[in-house]
Amino acid sequence: SGATTKESPSLGKLIVLTGPSGVGKGTLMQKLLQRHPELYYSVSVTTRSPRTGEVNGKNYYFISCSKFEQLVAQGEFLEWAEFAGNYYGTPRAAVLDHIQSGQLVVLEIELEGARQIRASFPSALSIFILPPSSSELEKRIRGRGQDSDEAIACRLHRAQEEIQAAHEFDIQIVNDDFDAALNEIETVLFG
Ligand code: 5GP
Repeated sequence: SGATTKESPSLGKLIVLTGPSGVGKGTLMQKLLQRHPELYYSVSVTTRSPRTGEVNGKNYYFISCSKFEQLVAQGEFLEWAEFAGNYYGTPRAAVLDHIQSGQLVVLEIELEGARQIRASFPSALSIFILPPSSSELEKRIRGRGQDSDEAIACRLHRAQEEIQAAHEFDIQIVNDDFDAALNEIETVLFG
């Protein structure tokens, strides 16, 4: 899929938060941004339909498949991947601009995209969020209640694959107790 060219060294830093769907990395990210407004969060582009309450330009940029494919062809993504029947991608220009200006840039993305970022940004810091157990993860994925049965089945299957890859990343954090997990991320980022 996406970019594999090595990016030039940069002033700022790139942080990748990854882990299976339902593990709570989105909620961890939201809390982290509230507490550290100096962080730049890269809003992703997706072909998925918005869930109730999601806002275009805040949670994602929601676009059509054909538009997404056009952006891929134009090299507009730093990474992109297909996940549970939809495309997701990180806009290249905004991320590079903010790194160049010295900002800490955070991405919250799935496994394939995180692997692409590791390949093109060897200096990026990658954090893998693990669930306390597979059964707890299944409960969380089902409990969200906004995805179809088919999408849920797909996400559960994918989650098992993603967890096997946790060791590829710099840091592993178990999201059992939310505040403890948040604390660990803050320690990794800010000492
Ligand atoms: P959801 O549909 O639940 O919002 O996201 C599904 C998965 O896609 C999550 O694991 C999420 O982190 C991931 N994701 C969100 N944005 C991006 C992106 O820009 N690139 C990649 N590769 N994955 C993303």
